[in-house]
Amino acid sequence: MGYHDFEWALEPTFFKRFENEEILESDLHAKVNLEKKERLMNLIFTIEGKVKTLCDRCGDEVWTDIEAEEEIVARFSNETDLSNDDVIFLNSSEYKFDIGQFLYEFSLLAVPQKRVHDEGECDPAAEEFFDELEEDEEENEKEEKEIDDNDYIDPRWEALKKLK
Ligand SMILES: [Zn+2]
Repeated sequence: MGYHDFEWALEPTFFKRFENEEILESDLHAKVNLEKKERLMNLIFTIEGKVKTLCDRCGDEVWTDIEAEEEIVARFSNETDLSNDDVIFLNSSEYKFDIGQFLYEFSLLAVPQKRVHDEGECDPAAEEFFDELEEDEEENEKEEKEIDDNDYIDPRWEALKKLK
């Protein structure tokens, strides 16, 4: 019964343990505040720091800041109510459960879908390549627009036609 606080640094090996290959390195600080009551535990997870992945734009390595706060309730019970997602049920033989699994999942949830360098900080060679791609696209769009313009008949000409 009572409050317990735990703190960890989540090292790169932490993610390796879960066979995660996306997180190349991590510099994360995790805290769990555990409140133990008679029949349940309340756990508040706080994760802060940064992870290194590959940039979605240039493929070079990039650090992204992440931050997460999650709460779970673990109830000591031999019955399970699967309709409640927020509560984890532990039967009396599993008083120990894997906090690492939660730290891992919550960290991953906090990593944004798109991980890119700040504007102008991508690998220059890749940046040049993408700029060219973009230019090509703009060129194509312009051409398409010109075609559209040709199809467009100025209403004033329409009016003139009627005068004939
Ligand atoms: Zn990049």
